[in-house]
Parts: sequence; C-alpha cells; structure tokens
Amino acid sequence: MAREKKVEEYDVVIIGGGAAGLTAGIYSGRAKLKTILIEKSLVGGLATYTNEIENYPGFPEGTTGLGLMELFQKQAKKFGVKFKGTDVKSVDLKGPIKTVETFRTTYKAKTVIIASGGRPRITRAENEEEFLFDKGISFCATCDAAANTGKDVLVIGSGDAAVEEGMFLTKFANKVIVSVMHEEGKMDCNEIAKAEALENPKMEFIWNTVCKRFEGEEHLTNVVLTDLRNGSEVNVPVDTCFEFIGYIPNTEIFKGIIDMTDRGYVLVNDKMETNVEGVFSAGDVTEKFLKQVSTAVGDGAVAGYAAERYIAETEQYNSQILAKNQFVYVYDASCPNCQNKMLEIEAIETKTEGKISFCKVDVYKSKGLSDRMGVSVFPSVAVVKDGAIVDVLTEDFSQSVLETYL
Ligand SMILES: Cc1cc2nc3c(=O)[nH]c(=O)nc-3n(C[C@H](O)[C@H](O)[C@H](O)COP(=O)(O)OP(=O)(O)OC[C@H]3O[C@@H](n4cnc5c(N)ncnc54)[C@H](O)[C@@H]3O)c2cc1C
Repeated sequence: MAREKKVEEYDVVIIGGGAAGLTAGIYSGRAKLKTILIEKSLVGGLATYTNEIENYPGFPEGTTGLGLMELFQKQAKKFGVKFKGTDVKSVDLKGPIKTVETFRTTYKAKTVIIASGGRPRITRAENEEEFLFDKGISFCATCDAAANTGKDVLVIGSGDAAVEEGMFLTKFANKVIVSVMHEEGKMDCNEIAKAEALENPKMEFIWNTVCKRFEGEEHLTNVVLTDLRNGSEVNVPVDTCFEFIGYIPNTEIFKGIIDMTDRGYVLVNDKMETNVEGVFSAGDVTEKFLKQVSTAVGDGAVAGYAAERYIAETEQYNSQILAKNQFVYVYDASCPNCQNKMLEIEAIETKTEGKISFCKVDVYKSKGLSDRMGVSVFPSVAVVKDGAIVDVLTEDFSQSVLETYL
C-alpha cells in the first residue's frame, strides 16, 4: 500500500542550503518566521568544495569553505531554522499557499525562496572526477588565481568567460595556455576580448583541441588534449586546469513556472522577487554579474527580509484592507494635493457621521500595500467590496460619487 505523504506548514520554505539559502534562513528565522531549508546534498553548497576562501570579508587569514558554511548553518539553527536533507522534486507556486514536494513530504508555505545554485559544466574527459575542485581542476579564476602565482595553467574554452578569466589569470600565472576547439584565430568570445587575448604575451593558444584525459597522482600534473585534425595527443603539463565551458543553473524543476533567462537563470528584481508573488530567489541561481559567496550572502539577506515583508503585508492587506467594505485613501504625505484632499475626505467623514469612512494608507510607509491595491496615482481612493478592490478613483472622490458605492 502506498505510504501517505506527510504535510507540513511553514511561513518560508528555502530550496537549497548554500550561502544564499543559509543567509535567507538567518534573516527569516531571526524575524520569527517558521522556516525550513531543504538541501539535497551537503549543507553549505558549492563553497564547501573549496579549501581556501580568501575574499570573504571578516577573515583576513582566509578560511575554508566548509568551516565558513558550518558557521552559517550554526547561525541559522540558532534562529530556529529547521533543516531537511532531501531533494525537492516539484513545486506549485500559484496562489497564496505554495506547495513544495519532496519524496515523503508535501511542504505548504506562504513564501518560497529558490536558492538552488548551479553547477559548472564539465568536459567529461577521462579521470575528470578525480581532480575536481581542490585537486587541480577549477571553475573559478577569482577564487584560485592567487594560488597559481608563478605557475603554468590551462584554460579550456574560448567564450567570453574563458577569455576574460584567462586574462585575469595572466596577472598571477607564469603562463596561461588556452585550449580552443576551433581552428586557428576562431574563438567564441567577442572581437575586442579576442584581440586583447591574442596580443597578451602570457597567453598561448592550442587550436583544434579538446580535452581527452587528466593525469597526476594526488594532484593534477598533466592534461592530455586531442588534436581534432589528426587525433594525435598533445600533453600539457600544468598545475591547474580552469574549465570555462559553461555553468548550469539548478532550475529544471522551475521551468515554465517562473521567468528565467534563455540559459535558465532566474530573473529577479532588486528585492529578489521573481515574477510569481511570494516567490523569491537568491544566489548563483539568479541572473547576476558576480557569483561569489559575498554576493550570495547579500542576495540571501534581501530575499529573507523581503519574504518577511511580504508575509507581514499580506496579513495587513487581508486584515485591514480587504476585511470589510470600505474606502481606502491612498496618499503621499509629502504631496500638497494629498494633504488638501485629506482635509476634504475627513470633512466627508464628519458630515456623514461615519457612514462614509476611510482607511488611510501612506504610500511612503506602505508602498507594498498600494502596489497590491494596484494604486499608482496619489491621492487615490480604492473601493473595497466583498473582499475585493472593485474600483480605484483618481479624479473625483466627492461625497456624491462615494455614495454611489454604498
Ligand atoms: C571551486 C569553486 C571555488 C570557489 N571559491 C570561491 C571563493 O574563494 N570565494 C567566493 O566568494 N566564492 C567562491 N566560489 C563561488 C561560490 O562557491 C558560490 O558563488 C556560492 O557558493 C553560491 O552560493 P549559492 O547558495 O547561491 O549556491 P550553491 O552554493 O550552489 O548552493 C545551492 C544548493 O542548492 C542545492 N539544491 C539544488 N537543487 C536542489 C533541489 N532540487 N532540492 C534541494 N536542494 C537543492 C544544491 O545541492 C546546493 O547545495 C567558488 C566556486 C567554486 C565552484
């Protein structure tokens, strides 16, 4: 007999336990929201794969990725965040209560934060798995350039990222060898980057090649390339191989549900809001300029805070705006016209002995509420009837007009 799924209810469900998800949890947990973080693999995410993090503020001597992420998790736990080690299989994000499905449990939540990160695309050459991350294959020049000072490195790829990161590596490495699968002079990057790279005396190109095998004992020492013209092998002795052949965001389960770029990155605004109400996203999974722990932390903080604001505003909206038939005066306290109209509507309240009364919303303090009402002109009067906004008056809210709604 099929086992019935458990149902659990939360204010916030966070998908992904990397730097972004953990920070979002610290913020939502500290705001006393009932929060669960679901992580399918290792809590700490991609950062745990790197031994040395030297550019995260507050650690002048550097720190390990694992150590740093353990601190993040400890702090999230301190604020009551619950952790679940499982894979999110599917989501239903429509409506005020969202559903997040795992194998055994259905999680119902007022908000969902997508912090599922991504994974670097790999070459799938022989022995690649043995040397990933700290053993000689890197995916991050910003992170690992300094450790390669004075050494020879190989870059795989010729797109914009490969060339830009390769140029950056020339500031540290003795020599940056670039394996390009195209014939001589053809690259996937833009023409300006290509010209600069070809002129850089520290860069060397091996054309018509793809990666065949990685070799070494404990650490990578040699990369064997295949020459596509004749199938011959080319040995490249290096200390580190940087693969820049793409990055795959973990967004398969959100396809067709939230807006993404062509490459599958989640589109967010500056509040980390997606196009779906109550759904936020943070970290490497979003379309952004710099993918680092520090930026994931910033995104996570915004997403956790925004989720708290969303829940508070939803409650306020339901209990103060939609709960009864009424008029809502939406104003900007600093605008003279709004101040004058305020006197007029208060006079109507007095004259009608409260038969016509107004709930007042200052847009400066409660922009979220006015957005929900669909009010963008100030002053306005929104008319609430039977739990819905039935009209928004922007020109004439005289007593005679208002009386037609009673
Ligand atoms: C080798 C390497 C070295 C790096 N070094 C540095 C460095 O020195 N300094 C620096 O600042 N940055 C560094 N970075 C970048 C940094 O690690 C990332 O920017 C950061 O970890 C992004 O955090 P995140 O939370 O957005 O995503 P991630 O860390 O990728 O976390 C996302 C998490 O979501 C989980 N997940 C995905 N899908 C699901 C699902 N369906 N259900 C449940 N869980 C799911 C994943 O398992 C993962 O743990 C490095 C990256 C790499 C690859």
